[in-house]
Amino acid sequence: MKVGIVGGGIVGMFTAYYLKREGIKDITIYESNFLGSGSIHAAGLIEPYRFDKMNTIGMIVKMLKYKLIGSTEVKTVDRYWLLELLKNLNKDPPEEAWQKLREMADFSLKEYRRMAEEKNDFDYHDDGLIELYKDKKEFEEGIEDEKNNPFHPKYEVVEVEGFAGGIYFPELSRLSTEKFVERMEKEELNDIKVIRKSVSKVKLDGTIEDEKFDIVIVAAGIWTRYLNLPVTAFKGYGYRVKGEAKVDKGVVLAEEGIAVSPLSDHIKVTGGFDADFSCTSDRAELFLKRGSLLVDISYVIDMNMGFRPCSPDGFPIIGRRENVVVATGACRLGWSFAPAMGKFASDLALGKIKDLGYMSRYVKNIKDFTGTIPTSSSA
Ligand SMILES: Cc1cc2nc3c(=O)[nH]c(=O)nc-3n(C[C@H](O)[C@H](O)[C@H](O)COP(=O)(O)OP(=O)(O)OC[C@H]3O[C@@H](n4cnc5c(N)ncnc54)[C@H](O)[C@@H]3O)c2cc1C
Repeated sequence: MKVGIVGGGIVGMFTAYYLKREGIKDITIYESNFLGSGSIHAAGLIEPYRFDKMNTIGMIVKMLKYKLIGSTEVKTVDRYWLLELLKNLNKDPPEEAWQKLREMADFSLKEYRRMAEEKNDFDYHDDGLIELYKDKKEFEEGIEDEKNNPFHPKYEVVEVEGFAGGIYFPELSRLSTEKFVERMEKEELNDIKVIRKSVSKVKLDGTIEDEKFDIVIVAAGIWTRYLNLPVTAFKGYGYRVKGEAKVDKGVVLAEEGIAVSPLSDHIKVTGGFDADFSCTSDRAELFLKRGSLLVDISYVIDMNMGFRPCSPDGFPIIGRRENVVVATGACRLGWSFAPAMGKFASDLALGKIKDLGYMSRYVKNIKDFTGTIPTSSSA
């Protein structure tokens, strides 16, 4: 079987990984930049229990609050995404979708742990995550939200000096995104063909450019929308810095959406939730400054910008039409759900499953794509 994958971000890499484990030898990844390039900016928090349903009034209020404090800027959104969000405002997906998402959360947490047990060369820590609140009312609302969390995670309310309080999730984990990509490239995907090319043609019969495959998997993040999917971009920035972290585990500043993860040889600081398809990084420093509340920064190693590919309700979109499988849309939690997304994409490609119910919504609408994929703000 000859398989082509468009997009070598974290979802594309996991898809290739599971296909290879199923014995598929002829796998080609098309990636417009280097392997993992679309995903390395992330904080590397494996936090599937912190899922946000996007199509709610609560989420719109959160975004407005983010906008007031400058954590969000709204430049462009995908029109199809916006229409679907409004059409489905406050609608809950079927229980089957929640059940699948819970399974995906557990599978993904376990897979990272298993890979770290094989060899922890990617700074894996299963020391949990703390959500920190500055404002007492927000903190109380945060605790209330956890009582109704559909994932039923374990959590503890903790006191943290200088803050209204924190919520600690002991079951969550974290890793270095850069080291994880390096590990996959050197070990699990070392014999997979990677073509560095921005794909401009995907056809439902299984064609990428002019090459015919038995199955094509499109895991191209926000660019998957060009196949006619309602996916929009929320842009953010990830810094690797040297310095002194004031925390010893992964921490999220809840009101601002800043994440800090102290790793063995650097600290990751991420932030930004801009509705924006452009590749500019002019707002990045604002989030570094905010992160300095939790880190005495000596110097910056590097910074990468990246996108959260969001579906209208935040649930991933995974499914197959004819000879094309798509896997995208997990938004804030692409790393957290990537193992499960890759596994499902692989199972769909191999015909082990035909459909994923609610997760496959929208997939019947996908179309052939031919054209130049814009890399700037012309969304
Ligand atoms: C600041 C920030 C912090 C984050 N932190 C976390 C976190 O801690 N935990 C978590 O779970 N998630 C986090 N995320 C979300 C996560 O980064 C994304 O959900 C994830 O990267 C999506 O993975 P993907 O493989 O679907 O898409 P991408 O990461 O976007 O990868 C898609 C790849 O496809 C390539 N591509 C696109 N079009 C083409 C084409 N036409 N031809 C060839 N190649 C193409 C791109 O170059 C890219 O490498 C964060 C996001 C941001 C912005």
